[in-house]
Amino acid sequence: MKSAGNSDSTPTPGGTPAKSMAAAEPRWAVIFKILNDFMSAFELPSVSLIGQENGTPYKILISTLISLRTKDEVTLTASRRLFEKADTPVRMMKLSTEEIEELIYPCGFFRVKAGNILKISERILEEYGGEVPRTAEELLAFPGVGLKTANLVLSLGFAIPAICVDTHVHRIANRFGWIETSKPDDSVGALEKVLPREHWIEINELLVLYGQQICTPRNPRCSECELSPDCRKVGVSRSR
Ligand code: SF4
Repeated sequence: MKSAGNSDSTPTPGGTPAKSMAAAEPRWAVIFKILNDFMSAFELPSVSLIGQENGTPYKILISTLISLRTKDEVTLTASRRLFEKADTPVRMMKLSTEEIEELIYPCGFFRVKAGNILKISERILEEYGGEVPRTAEELLAFPGVGLKTANLVLSLGFAIPAICVDTHVHRIANRFGWIETSKPDDSVGALEKVLPREHWIEINELLVLYGQQICTPRNPRCSECELSPDCRKVGVSRSR
């Protein structure tokens, strides 16, 4: 997935919802209907697709690790290649680091990720009886797992409401004026305060796609954006 900069948004101290939105509650139902309709014409992001393909929490966790700093199409093919050989911690432990490196190449940081996949698989077996743990705290203790990965595993792997904030979710939520944050991890708590819980799981795949196609990092396509009436376009100085 392409890494998106945030240079054209308005950075402010993180972690709080936008004060000015208090008087104007976003039309959540309208916004999410438009996003879902838009998404229906496209293929799901790679980790969501893996989730649909008999996606166990373990496969969600490993494919999310593979996806970090990696293009979506590379994530999908690398994950499928790896899972053909090993789709459980037990099977993964039978592979060498070099074999995993070869299977997930050319994803970004493939050597580091291969090592982390083995370490995580070993800990899942030794500390959790072969089952992926179900709390963010436990997931965050694994090497290479940050808040984005932990929340994606909780939401896609266990259907536990958790907001996975990547660069697209962070950028678009700030442009809308829903929150005012400078870092994606600050956006998690800020969004939890304003976004109805029923949208926590779906927001990631919806805004990732919208961020790739319409609300792009530079020169967003505001003229063809159906969400324009609901968007304050915070920090957007140039658009198409
Ligand atoms: S109006 Fe522009 S800034 Fe707002 S969501 Fe649409 S494309 Fe993004």
